[in-house]
Amino acid sequence: MNYRHILEEIYREIQPFAYEGKQADYIPSLAQVNPDQFGIYLHLLDGEHYSLGESEVNFSIQSISKVFSLAIALSLIGKQLWERIGKEPSGSAFNSLVQLEYEHGKPRNPFINAGALVLTDVLLSHLENPEDFFISFVRKLAHNPAIDYSHEVAMSEYSCCYLNASIAYLLKHHGNLQNSVDDVLRFYCLMCSVEMSCKDLAQAFSAFARSNEPFSHGGVQLTPSRVKRINAIMQTCGFYDEAGEFSFLVGLPGKSGVGGGIVALCPAKYAIAVWSPRLNARGNSIMGMKALELFTTLTTQSIF
Ligand code: GLN
Repeated sequence: MNYRHILEEIYREIQPFAYEGKQADYIPSLAQVNPDQFGIYLHLLDGEHYSLGESEVNFSIQSISKVFSLAIALSLIGKQLWERIGKEPSGSAFNSLVQLEYEHGKPRNPFINAGALVLTDVLLSHLENPEDFFISFVRKLAHNPAIDYSHEVAMSEYSCCYLNASIAYLLKHHGNLQNSVDDVLRFYCLMCSVEMSCKDLAQAFSAFARSNEPFSHGGVQLTPSRVKRINAIMQTCGFYDEAGEFSFLVGLPGKSGVGGGIVALCPAKYAIAVWSPRLNARGNSIMGMKALELFTTLTTQSIF
Protein backbone atom coordinates (compact mmCIF):
# COMPACT_ATOMS: atom_id res chain seq x y z
CA MET A 1 0.00 0.00 0.00
CA ASN A 2 1.40 3.41 -0.94
CA TYR A 3 0.50 5.37 2.20
CA ARG A 4 2.44 8.43 1.12
CA HIS A 5 0.31 8.81 -2.00
CA ILE A 6 -2.82 8.14 -0.03
CA LEU A 7 -2.04 10.91 2.47
CA GLU A 8 -1.27 13.30 -0.40
CA GLU A 9 -4.53 12.43 -2.11
CA ILE A 10 -6.43 12.99 1.14
CA TYR A 11 -4.76 16.38 1.55
CA ARG A 12 -5.86 17.42 -1.95
CA GLU A 13 -9.41 16.17 -1.51
CA ILE A 14 -10.06 17.95 1.77
CA GLN A 15 -8.98 21.39 0.51
CA PRO A 16 -12.54 22.48 -0.40
CA PHE A 17 -13.40 22.24 3.32
CA ALA A 18 -10.38 24.22 4.51
CA TYR A 19 -12.36 27.26 5.66
CA GLU A 20 -15.53 25.56 6.88
CA GLY A 21 -16.40 25.82 10.57
CA LYS A 22 -14.45 27.66 13.24
CA GLN A 23 -12.26 26.81 16.17
CA ALA A 24 -13.66 26.46 19.70
CA ASP A 25 -13.79 29.86 21.35
CA TYR A 26 -15.67 29.12 24.57
CA ILE A 27 -12.25 28.42 26.10
CA PRO A 28 -10.59 31.83 25.55
CA SER A 29 -7.07 30.41 24.96
CA LEU A 30 -8.29 28.15 22.16
CA ALA A 31 -9.68 31.15 20.29
CA GLN A 32 -6.06 32.36 19.84
CA VAL A 33 -5.00 29.30 17.81
CA ASN A 34 -4.47 29.80 14.06
CA PRO A 35 -7.43 27.83 12.65
CA ASP A 36 -5.84 27.20 9.27
CA GLN A 37 -3.61 24.31 10.19
CA PHE A 38 -3.80 20.65 9.30
CA GLY A 39 -1.65 17.71 10.30
CA ILE A 40 -1.93 13.94 9.98
CA TYR A 41 0.29 11.17 11.34
CA LEU A 42 -0.07 7.47 10.63
CA HIS A 43 1.67 5.04 12.96
CA LEU A 44 1.69 1.49 11.63
CA LEU A 45 2.27 -1.22 14.21
CA ASP A 46 5.06 -2.72 12.10
CA GLY A 47 7.07 0.43 12.87
CA GLU A 48 6.53 2.41 9.67
CA HIS A 49 5.08 5.89 9.87
CA TYR A 50 3.87 8.54 7.46
CA SER A 51 2.91 12.13 8.03
CA LEU A 52 1.88 15.30 6.30
CA GLY A 53 1.33 18.95 7.23
CA GLU A 54 1.57 20.20 10.83
CA SER A 55 1.89 16.70 12.27
CA GLU A 56 4.47 17.66 14.89
CA VAL A 57 2.86 20.88 16.09
CA ASN A 58 1.47 20.70 19.63
CA PHE A 59 -2.20 21.43 20.25
CA SER A 60 -4.64 21.16 23.13
CA ILE A 61 -5.86 17.58 23.34
CA GLN A 62 -8.98 18.53 25.38
CA SER A 63 -11.42 15.59 25.48
CA ILE A 64 -8.92 13.13 24.05
CA SER A 65 -7.55 13.17 27.62
CA LYS A 66 -10.72 11.30 28.67
CA VAL A 67 -9.35 8.10 27.13
CA PHE A 68 -6.25 8.34 29.32
CA SER A 69 -8.27 9.03 32.46
CA LEU A 70 -10.62 6.14 31.65
CA ALA A 71 -7.67 3.78 31.24
CA ILE A 72 -6.28 4.84 34.61
CA ALA A 73 -9.63 4.81 36.45
CA LEU A 74 -10.52 1.35 35.10
CA SER A 75 -7.21 0.04 36.24
CA LEU A 76 -7.65 1.62 39.69
CA ILE A 77 -11.17 0.46 40.55
CA GLY A 78 -12.15 -2.06 37.86
CA LYS A 79 -15.81 -2.94 37.43
CA GLN A 80 -16.88 -0.69 40.31
CA LEU A 81 -16.49 2.18 37.85
CA TRP A 82 -19.67 1.09 36.07
CA GLU A 83 -21.72 1.61 39.22
CA ARG A 84 -20.98 5.32 38.85
CA ILE A 85 -20.84 5.77 35.05
CA GLY A 86 -22.85 4.09 32.26
CA LYS A 87 -21.50 2.80 28.95
CA GLU A 88 -24.20 3.74 26.48
CA PRO A 89 -23.92 6.45 23.81
CA SER A 90 -25.52 9.68 25.01
CA GLY A 91 -26.95 11.03 21.76
CA SER A 92 -26.56 14.47 23.28
CA ALA A 93 -23.91 17.18 23.41
CA PHE A 94 -20.73 16.57 25.39
CA ASN A 95 -21.67 19.21 27.94
CA SER A 96 -25.39 18.50 28.24
CA LEU A 97 -27.02 18.72 31.67
CA VAL A 98 -30.49 17.47 30.77
CA GLN A 99 -29.77 13.75 30.57
CA LEU A 100 -27.81 13.82 33.80
CA GLU A 101 -30.77 15.25 35.65
CA TYR A 102 -33.18 12.65 34.24
CA GLU A 103 -30.75 9.88 35.08
CA HIS A 104 -30.20 10.97 38.67
CA GLY A 105 -26.56 11.91 38.43
CA LYS A 106 -25.22 8.78 36.69
CA PRO A 107 -23.48 9.94 33.48
CA ARG A 108 -24.30 7.93 30.33
CA ASN A 109 -20.65 7.22 29.53
CA PRO A 110 -17.09 8.21 30.47
CA PHE A 111 -16.53 10.40 27.39
CA ILE A 112 -19.17 13.05 27.97
CA ASN A 113 -18.06 15.75 30.37
CA ALA A 114 -20.21 14.42 33.24
CA GLY A 115 -18.59 10.99 32.93
CA ALA A 116 -15.11 12.46 32.70
CA LEU A 117 -15.72 14.52 35.84
CA VAL A 118 -16.48 11.25 37.67
CA LEU A 119 -13.26 9.73 36.22
CA THR A 120 -11.41 12.78 37.52
CA ASP A 121 -12.90 12.17 40.96
CA VAL A 122 -11.72 8.53 40.89
CA LEU A 123 -8.17 9.62 40.01
CA LEU A 124 -8.17 12.22 42.79
CA SER A 125 -9.39 9.66 45.34
CA HIS A 126 -7.05 6.80 44.43
CA LEU A 127 -3.76 8.34 43.30
CA GLU A 128 -1.23 9.79 45.70
CA ASN A 129 -0.16 12.48 43.27
CA PRO A 130 -2.75 12.58 40.47
CA GLU A 131 -1.17 15.47 38.50
CA ASP A 132 2.23 13.83 38.31
CA PHE A 133 0.84 10.38 37.68
CA PHE A 134 -1.42 11.45 34.82
CA ILE A 135 1.26 13.31 32.90
CA SER A 136 3.87 10.61 33.41
CA PHE A 137 1.37 8.02 32.14
CA VAL A 138 0.77 10.07 28.97
CA ARG A 139 4.49 10.73 28.45
CA LYS A 140 5.29 7.04 28.67
CA LEU A 141 2.44 6.02 26.33
CA ALA A 142 3.61 8.57 23.75
CA HIS A 143 7.35 7.92 24.28
CA ASN A 144 7.83 11.65 24.72
CA PRO A 145 9.07 13.03 28.06
CA ALA A 146 8.51 16.61 26.87
CA ILE A 147 4.69 16.38 26.88
CA ASP A 148 3.16 18.71 29.46
CA TYR A 149 0.09 20.48 30.76
CA SER A 150 -0.60 24.02 29.59
CA HIS A 151 -1.36 25.85 32.82
CA GLU A 152 -2.45 28.82 30.74
CA VAL A 153 -5.10 26.83 28.85
CA ALA A 154 -6.20 25.10 32.07
CA MET A 155 -6.70 28.44 33.85
CA SER A 156 -8.40 29.89 30.82
CA GLU A 157 -10.95 27.06 30.85
CA TYR A 158 -11.27 26.99 34.65
CA SER A 159 -11.99 30.73 34.77
CA CYS A 160 -15.18 30.31 32.76
CA CYS A 161 -16.23 26.65 33.18
CA TYR A 162 -19.75 27.49 34.33
CA LEU A 163 -21.40 24.61 32.49
CA ASN A 164 -18.93 22.01 33.75
CA ALA A 165 -19.35 23.48 37.24
CA SER A 166 -23.13 23.00 36.93
CA ILE A 167 -22.57 19.38 35.90
CA ALA A 168 -20.17 18.84 38.80
CA TYR A 169 -22.63 20.29 41.32
CA LEU A 170 -25.37 18.03 40.00
CA LEU A 171 -23.04 15.02 40.33
CA LYS A 172 -22.14 16.13 43.86
CA HIS A 173 -25.82 16.52 44.74
CA HIS A 174 -26.42 12.92 43.68
CA GLY A 175 -23.48 11.66 45.72
CA ASN A 176 -21.43 10.83 42.62
CA LEU A 177 -18.35 12.94 43.55
CA GLN A 178 -16.25 12.25 46.60
CA ASN A 179 -13.89 15.20 46.26
CA SER A 180 -14.80 18.88 46.29
CA VAL A 181 -16.35 20.30 43.14
CA ASP A 182 -13.49 22.78 42.91
CA ASP A 183 -10.75 20.14 43.12
CA VAL A 184 -12.50 18.06 40.46
CA LEU A 185 -12.95 21.02 38.09
CA ARG A 186 -9.33 22.17 38.46
CA PHE A 187 -7.88 18.74 37.74
CA TYR A 188 -10.36 18.10 34.90
CA CYS A 189 -9.32 21.37 33.19
CA LEU A 190 -5.65 20.50 33.73
CA MET A 191 -5.98 17.08 32.07
CA CYS A 192 -7.82 18.67 29.12
CA SER A 193 -5.00 21.21 28.76
CA VAL A 194 -2.29 18.66 27.88
CA GLU A 195 -0.54 19.58 24.63
CA MET A 196 0.47 16.90 22.17
CA SER A 197 1.09 16.59 18.44
CA CYS A 198 -0.47 14.16 15.95
CA LYS A 199 2.77 12.20 16.16
CA ASP A 200 2.48 11.91 19.97
CA LEU A 201 -1.17 10.89 19.81
CA ALA A 202 -0.64 8.26 17.13
CA GLN A 203 2.20 6.78 19.15
CA ALA A 204 0.17 6.86 22.40
CA PHE A 205 -2.91 5.24 20.86
CA SER A 206 -0.90 2.53 19.20
CA ALA A 207 -1.02 0.94 22.69
CA PHE A 208 -4.78 0.56 22.21
CA ALA A 209 -4.21 -1.11 18.83
CA ARG A 210 -1.58 -3.48 20.18
CA SER A 211 -3.30 -5.46 22.90
CA ASN A 212 -1.00 -8.49 22.67
CA GLU A 213 1.81 -6.52 24.32
CA PRO A 214 0.08 -4.91 27.32
CA PHE A 215 1.36 -1.45 28.20
CA SER A 216 1.90 -0.83 31.88
CA HIS A 217 3.00 2.11 33.98
CA GLY A 218 3.06 2.51 37.75
CA GLY A 219 0.60 -0.31 38.35
CA VAL A 220 -1.79 0.79 35.57
CA GLN A 221 -2.03 -1.96 32.98
CA LEU A 222 -3.74 -1.92 29.62
CA THR A 223 -4.67 -5.60 29.65
CA PRO A 224 -6.21 -7.04 26.45
CA SER A 225 -9.63 -7.17 28.11
CA ARG A 226 -9.40 -3.55 29.26
CA VAL A 227 -8.22 -2.41 25.83
CA LYS A 228 -11.17 -4.22 24.23
CA ARG A 229 -13.59 -2.36 26.48
CA ILE A 230 -11.96 1.04 26.08
CA ASN A 231 -11.98 0.62 22.28
CA ALA A 232 -15.66 -0.38 22.40
CA ILE A 233 -16.50 2.80 24.28
CA MET A 234 -14.44 4.86 21.82
CA GLN A 235 -16.42 3.26 19.00
CA THR A 236 -19.84 3.97 20.53
CA CYS A 237 -19.22 7.18 22.49
CA GLY A 238 -16.02 8.81 21.20
CA PHE A 239 -17.73 11.56 19.22
CA TYR A 240 -20.65 12.57 21.46
CA ASP A 241 -23.81 13.04 19.42
CA GLU A 242 -21.86 12.30 16.25
CA ALA A 243 -20.61 8.85 17.31
CA GLY A 244 -22.96 7.07 14.91
CA GLU A 245 -21.92 9.32 12.02
CA PHE A 246 -18.20 8.83 12.72
CA SER A 247 -18.68 5.08 12.96
CA PHE A 248 -20.62 5.11 9.69
CA LEU A 249 -18.17 7.31 7.79
CA VAL A 250 -14.87 6.12 9.24
CA GLY A 251 -15.46 2.75 10.90
CA LEU A 252 -12.81 3.00 13.60
CA PRO A 253 -12.81 3.49 17.37
CA GLY A 254 -11.53 6.96 18.12
CA LYS A 255 -11.77 10.10 20.18
CA SER A 256 -12.04 13.77 19.36
CA GLY A 257 -11.38 16.96 21.30
CA VAL A 258 -12.47 20.58 20.83
CA GLY A 259 -8.84 21.52 20.19
CA GLY A 260 -9.49 20.00 16.74
CA GLY A 261 -7.64 16.73 17.27
CA ILE A 262 -8.99 13.28 16.41
CA VAL A 263 -7.20 10.03 17.05
CA ALA A 264 -8.43 6.65 15.83
CA LEU A 265 -7.07 3.14 15.61
CA CYS A 266 -7.43 -0.12 13.77
CA PRO A 267 -6.68 -3.06 16.10
CA ALA A 268 -3.47 -4.92 15.24
CA LYS A 269 -2.80 -2.54 12.32
CA TYR A 270 -2.33 1.16 13.05
CA ALA A 271 -3.16 4.30 14.98
CA ILE A 272 -3.74 7.58 13.16
CA ALA A 273 -4.09 11.13 14.43
CA VAL A 274 -5.32 14.22 12.60
CA TRP A 275 -5.57 17.82 13.70
CA SER A 276 -7.32 20.82 12.28
CA PRO A 277 -8.92 23.38 14.61
CA ARG A 278 -12.06 24.27 12.63
CA LEU A 279 -14.98 22.34 14.15
CA ASN A 280 -18.49 21.41 13.12
CA ALA A 281 -21.54 22.13 15.30
CA ARG A 282 -20.93 18.97 17.31
CA GLY A 283 -17.42 19.99 18.29
CA ASN A 284 -15.54 17.64 15.94
CA SER A 285 -12.83 18.73 13.46
CA ILE A 286 -14.30 19.05 9.95
CA MET A 287 -11.08 18.39 8.01
CA GLY A 288 -10.13 15.70 10.53
CA MET A 289 -13.33 13.73 9.99
CA LYS A 290 -13.10 14.08 6.20
CA ALA A 291 -9.47 12.95 6.23
CA LEU A 292 -10.21 9.85 8.28
CA GLU A 293 -13.22 8.96 6.14
CA LEU A 294 -11.01 9.15 3.06
CA PHE A 295 -8.23 7.19 4.75
CA THR A 296 -10.38 4.15 5.56
CA THR A 297 -12.10 4.37 2.17
CA LEU A 298 -8.86 4.53 0.18
CA THR A 299 -7.03 1.90 2.24
CA THR A 300 -10.12 -0.28 2.89
CA GLN A 301 -8.68 -0.70 6.40
CA SER A 302 -11.39 -0.08 8.95
CA ILE A 303 -12.70 -2.50 11.55
CA PHE A 304 -15.61 -3.46 9.30
N1 GLN B 1 -12.40 20.88 28.17
C1 GLN B 1 -13.47 20.80 27.25
C2 GLN B 1 -14.80 20.99 27.96
O1 GLN B 1 -14.98 20.50 29.02
C3 GLN B 1 -13.43 19.47 26.55
C4 GLN B 1 -14.56 19.28 25.59
C5 GLN B 1 -14.20 18.55 24.34
O2 GLN B 1 -13.05 18.45 23.94
N2 GLN B 1 -15.22 18.05 23.67
O3 GLN B 1 -15.67 21.63 27.47
